[in-house]
Amino acid sequence: KPVIIIVVGMAGSGKTTFLHRLVAHTHTSNIRGYVMNLDPAVLTLPFGANIDIRDTVRYKEVMKQFNLGPNGGILTSLNLFATKFDEVISVIEKRADELDYVLVDTPGQIEIFTWSASGAIITEAFASTFPTVVTYVVDTPRAENPTTFMSNMLYACSILYKTRLPLVLAFNKIDVAQHQFALEWMEDFEAFQAASSLDHSYTSTLTQSLSLVLDEFYQNLRSVGVSAVSGAGVEAFFKAIEASAEEYMENYKADLDKRR
Ligand code: GDP
Ligand code: MG
Repeated sequence: KPVIIIVVGMAGSGKTTFLHRLVAHTHTSNIRGYVMNLDPAVLTLPFGANIDIRDTVRYKEVMKQFNLGPNGGILTSLNLFATKFDEVISVIEKRADELDYVLVDTPGQIEIFTWSASGAIITEAFASTFPTVVTYVVDTPRAENPTTFMSNMLYACSILYKTRLPLVLAFNKIDVAQHQFALEWMEDFEAFQAASSLDHSYTSTLTQSLSLVLDEFYQNLRSVGVSAVSGAGVEAFFKAIEASAEEYMENYKADLDKRR
């Protein structure tokens, strides 16, 4: 059975570019990949998608028909697509023997997928049928700011608890800034507190307290540094995905069978 990789992250973190990199990697390494685009508003994709939400739902039409703004249009398009998601699952099931990975791109604005009913329906549909791993893409140069780093970790943490799926943190854009600092902050909360105490604002105090709480969360995930542009870290990324897929089999799958 293929492993589903759902790629999420803040707008501009590099989800689509990273997916393009992963697709290129599958082509050169004899990995059999299948690509799915769930962003109805994207104008052009750098990769060819096997399944594209834009083939089923016309985002501009949805906006007009329901008199919606851009975000409402994206959300409604995703809702419409989610109602047909059993068809998507059966398409993948039919090809299950020929596939190693299904790579899934999500809308630019993270909350549209992670905090919507349709995002939850789609995630559950995947996870109840295939080993599924969530990849949270971080804009590493931006995360050098401790407050931005903390916002990203809280977001990733909430996704982990909401989906209960294995999570891989992909620190992207390491061609611009190495992610070593992030690993240090995750390993040693005092190092993080030292960095965030440089300014004495309320958010910095809050950030410092939160770092203690997140310690437990950090134990539960894998992190890799990648560059969607240079291709650095892609092998390590797939190793992390493999380990996460095993974790899915041990934890999530057993949990799911129990609930049935
Ligand atoms: P998305 O909104 O998360 O899908 O982000 P995109 O893939 O559209 O990328 C946002 C911007 O970041 C684009 O200008 C990309 O060229 C740039 N970008 C993405 N990945 C990298 C990377 O690894 N290194 C650098 N330097 N830029 C990147
Ligand atoms: Mg994108």
